[in-house]
Amino acid sequence: MIQRVNEKRLTQLVRELAQKISREIMQAGVKANDFEGIVRLNRAVIRWQEMELAKLGYYVKDECKIILNSQITNVERLNFTFYHELTHHLIEHNDEILSLFADAYIPTNTQDETMERLCNAGAAELLVPSDNVYKMVKEKEFSTALIPELCERYRASSIAVSLQMVNIAHHDCYLFIAELRSVSLDKALQPMLFPYDKVRQQQLYVIYSAGSPQSKYLMPRNIPIPYGHLMYETLKYEGEAIKGKDDIPRRNSINHAWITDCDAMYFRGKVFAFFNVSQPINNQQMLLL
Ligand SMILES: [Zn+2]
Repeated sequence: MIQRVNEKRLTQLVRELAQKISREIMQAGVKANDFEGIVRLNRAVIRWQEMELAKLGYYVKDECKIILNSQITNVERLNFTFYHELTHHLIEHNDEILSLFADAYIPTNTQDETMERLCNAGAAELLVPSDNVYKMVKEKEFSTALIPELCERYRASSIAVSLQMVNIAHHDCYLFIAELRSVSLDKALQPMLFPYDKVRQQQLYVIYSAGSPQSKYLMPRNIPIPYGHLMYETLKYEGEAIKGKDDIPRRNSINHAWITDCDAMYFRGKVFAFFNVSQPINNQQMLLL
């Protein structure tokens, strides 16, 4: 009988797979940053290749080969990319997940995006176990203010920590992670458009997005954040959580603003923003769940 599952169920299975592999890596005494040791343990190989900066890496299924961009210098980005590609490898060799994925309720045109989100969920779980994040969110409150603390306590990547926060959230929320990119403007137009404001030659771009299990929509990546958005405010106050209301970044959202509570922070070169569609559940309510 064909079993038809949804993306949430697949995410859960990928996280369980990641937990199993984490245990195996630990039991084998291989360190989390020993990429060669980890791929050997999982019967894969790793190669480095010079690519344009927007690309991070990819996985070659037929050769069980993880390719990483040798241009990436940011350690967090590199770690996250490695574990993302490793999850591709793990999924491609897991018959249960593969067959469920093939029959799942996922439109054909969004299958690639779904696979990318599954690999992000696997990478996050491999880098920081969701149980650890859950424990701390339960003790404190759901806010970007927790990201530096979680990174410090578990020596984890900020990308993994924030993705795990949204994965374990009981309320309806979205996470966007953005980075500043140089905007290539027509040289002749540049002084006319931005005569005074040099900052505007850089723009925030979404590098990762995710929704909590309660969320309804799939959010895009690789879209610019419009100037004036609350997320830009954070750039002036590194490491501080900035709270307010603003539009959830989407494609063509100009005429369809979706204003919600936004809690954002600039940390380790990236802007993290939670958009809370419903209110985060407080500690007391969480204990009852
Ligand atoms: Zn991928």
